[in-house]
Amino acid sequence: MSGGIQAVRGFNDILPGQATRWQAIEAIAAEVLDTAGYGEIRLPILEQTTLFARSIGTGTDIVEKEMYSFEDRGGDSLSMRPEGTAGCVRAGISHGLFNGSQIRLRYGGPMFRHERPQKGRYRQFHQIGAEAFGIQGADIEAEMILLGARLWRRLGLKHIGLRINSLGRPQEREIYRSALIEYLHEHMDRLDADARRRLETNPLRILDSKDPKIRKLLTEAPRIGDYFGDQTRLQFAELCTRLDLLGIGYTLDPFLVRGLDYYTGLVFEWTTDLLGAQDAVCSGGRYDGLVARLGGRDTPAVGWALGMERLVLLVEAEGKTPPPTPPDAYFIALGKEAEYKALVLSERLRDRYPRLRLMVNMGGGSLKSQLRRADRAGARYALILGESELNAGTVILKPLGEKGEQTSADFEAVADTLIRKLRHGYATANRFNPG
Ligand code: ATP
Ligand code: MG
Repeated sequence: MSGGIQAVRGFNDILPGQATRWQAIEAIAAEVLDTAGYGEIRLPILEQTTLFARSIGTGTDIVEKEMYSFEDRGGDSLSMRPEGTAGCVRAGISHGLFNGSQIRLRYGGPMFRHERPQKGRYRQFHQIGAEAFGIQGADIEAEMILLGARLWRRLGLKHIGLRINSLGRPQEREIYRSALIEYLHEHMDRLDADARRRLETNPLRILDSKDPKIRKLLTEAPRIGDYFGDQTRLQFAELCTRLDLLGIGYTLDPFLVRGLDYYTGLVFEWTTDLLGAQDAVCSGGRYDGLVARLGGRDTPAVGWALGMERLVLLVEAEGKTPPPTPPDAYFIALGKEAEYKALVLSERLRDRYPRLRLMVNMGGGSLKSQLRRADRAGARYALILGESELNAGTVILKPLGEKGEQTSADFEAVADTLIRKLRHGYATANRFNPG
């Protein structure tokens, strides 16, 4: 449209039809996490740029190339959050949430990364995340993973699988890093420009490369697992025991590393084969050093974040739909006096049944045109108030696209009559993925 203002590239509108799907998924995620003791924390979208530089790491793609950073009018360097963990830790430290005790948190909302937009990859996207602080064992790691598994089950998803790895303790990772650098140096000729640069800045990220030549080279590379001490080995085995106990399948992937610097120990990713290249739906891991790095006391931590856009795409790809949420009733009034009465009656209906989905016709119109609007809205019943009903003190209840006879009820009885007719449907229709 010429002259029309477009949305910013990579920033999406979520229209009402789509938003109901989002709401249904968000409500289930909130329930899964709340019921397990993860309290919601709501965090700012803007943070000091140094927060992300220090936590995510300066050698990472996110901080190097993807952040929306700017100087505000006061001269401070601010960034729109590219992820939620850093802000969560910053808030936890400044409010004393980590002082020796255990705490489980969840968050959600928009994140911003200046990436090349494509299906499943946007510049504004949304995450739901869970973090647990103050717990160092495999028990909480298994809990983190089972929460994801529970959420996929609640959504009826089948095409989602788990990959896990451990990055070891910092000393182990350091020794492995040197061994990897040495190996890759011996094969410099087989590295592309990107990998050569990473060899200097962030060599572990080369493990993540999608280039087939590099993947081949990596099959002979040193494996991080060979550098683990007993403690790391035992903790990882303990996690596997717990996943086995729960029947949660997983693949051990020695090349799984994460895009953020702060991980230690467990890393994991839930991926799907239904979304093409953007296959990571949820990822996370342990990050024991981060709280101290940001100025708090030493606090073990583990967490994950899922991408809502990808999860919504996956729910759609698997053919799962939230229940439709059409109006229960559409109030039709013919003439000014009837409109006044309908206005008052509809408010009384809402007072009596706050969950009733009631639309009231606006802008007048003939019976025919109002019925057409009711139909288009997908209403289950039309409540009709014409001149003769007004005189008789009654309202007509006309089923639309629903079995049953047209009836009428006195003004005082409309609410209860309507609810009685709707009730049977309520009990069955209000669930996600029935059956
Ligand atoms: P990818 O490898 O696909 O770039 P990532 O490792 O950068 O993902 P994380 O930083 O771990 O992703 O974020 C957690 C989740 O957020 C991802 O698993 C994905 O579902 C989602 N996500 C990340 N970046 C984007 C994006 N630009 N657009 C949409 N979703 C995203
Ligand atoms: Mg990324």
